[in-house]
Amino acid sequence: MEFEELVEKVASGEIKLYQVESYTNGDKRLATEVRRRALEKKLGIKLDNIGHYSIDPDRLIGRNIENMIGVVQIPMGVAGPLKINGEYAKGEFYIPLATTEGALVASVNRGCSALTAAGGVRTTLIDDKMARAPLLKCPDARRAREVAGWVQNNLDYLQEKAVSKVTRHGKLRGVKPFIVGNNLYLRFEFETGDAMGMNMVTISSEEIMKVIEEKFPDVKYLALSGNLCVDKKPNALNFIEGRGKTVIAEAVIPREIVEKKLKTTPELIAEVNYRKNLVGSAQAASYGFNAHFGNIVGAIFLATGQDEAQITEGSHGITLAEVTPEGDLYMSITMPSLEIGTVGGGTRVPTQREALSIMGVAGGGDPPGSNAKKFAEIVAGAVLAGELSLLAAIAAKHLAKAHRELGR
Ligand code: NAP
Repeated sequence: MEFEELVEKVASGEIKLYQVESYTNGDKRLATEVRRRALEKKLGIKLDNIGHYSIDPDRLIGRNIENMIGVVQIPMGVAGPLKINGEYAKGEFYIPLATTEGALVASVNRGCSALTAAGGVRTTLIDDKMARAPLLKCPDARRAREVAGWVQNNLDYLQEKAVSKVTRHGKLRGVKPFIVGNNLYLRFEFETGDAMGMNMVTISSEEIMKVIEEKFPDVKYLALSGNLCVDKKPNALNFIEGRGKTVIAEAVIPREIVEKKLKTTPELIAEVNYRKNLVGSAQAASYGFNAHFGNIVGAIFLATGQDEAQITEGSHGITLAEVTPEGDLYMSITMPSLEIGTVGGGTRVPTQREALSIMGVAGGGDPPGSNAKKFAEIVAGAVLAGELSLLAAIAAKHLAKAHRELGR
């Protein structure tokens, strides 16, 4: 079929958006063009910018996107260098931030500069697990408890019979059962190497369900997710138990640096943090006892191909600020649920992969898992830089001025 005729048929709805590839001999770049032109025609608009891109639709359609019409471009800036004294991230790093929010990159950059001058950020990984919680309907609560007990005592068996059949890197390392009436929620926890792991743990959980249904015929597997995972929703469970990486970044910033670079004092930063991030957030019943984790997490997620809906849990966490006995500023950020990866999902999109390479974390690590852990430490360091800079700006009453100058 000729290009224009195909565009016409898609615009009229005779050919559905998802059917276009079958009329272009599988040529996905052409199909993308056809869909965009059809949309332009139908809506009487021009989508020239959406049609300009360098990434190859052939590598994305069917894996990362459906009904592709082009790309949206988000400006990317870089903050740094940020010195990190981590267990996986060691040295100075530049942090790619994709955002349209003026002043954000400048603010993180200022935080990086202060932290690096202070000797760097110390990062500590507390936990690393991806959770999936399928739902089983049991005859009654007692049976639910029995099934839960069997599962808890047979993790190695389930790894061998189910998980290892579908993944090399996924390792079942625990389960937390929740019972509500006759409902059993099995919150499985997996190690997932350098992958964020959602596909891996979902496919593994389904295999586990087959084994359980065979062993307990009176128990009905009802849903692969019973919402106790918890994925892409604000929730207390991930805040308390952790999901993905649980990571902490800390630093002691000498008083002189706080005063010279940040134009405020340790006392004022600590007081603003206490009254705003702790008391204010408590009054709001927030999960974000912080100034703006979501800003930094969001910009890094978009730059590096993370699952953007998981910015929700990435924005959870606590910022602390204290004046040390020496009169310097101690600050920490604790992120309970940072769900990230350096392989799989959007990380394979070439621009996003390049952004990961800026931090030296593109692809799988040696040993597997080490790249994602290094990445988590860098994100935590960047979040601390963002918190320090914003709290200082608020303490010094510079926030509105910075936004007047950079954000409008
Ligand atoms: P994935 O791309 O599905 O799996 C990772 C792949 O990379 C696996 O095939 C794995 O092999 C391989 N791999 C190679 N080297 C690895 C290494 N060093 N460490 C870990 N894996 C390595 O990615 P995923 O992280 O599991 O899933 C991410 C995707 O899930 C995202 O696109 C996200 O949007 C989506 N998602 C899915 C759900 C869902 O319910 N299914 C929910 C939310 C998000 P092996 O498997 O053999 O180990």
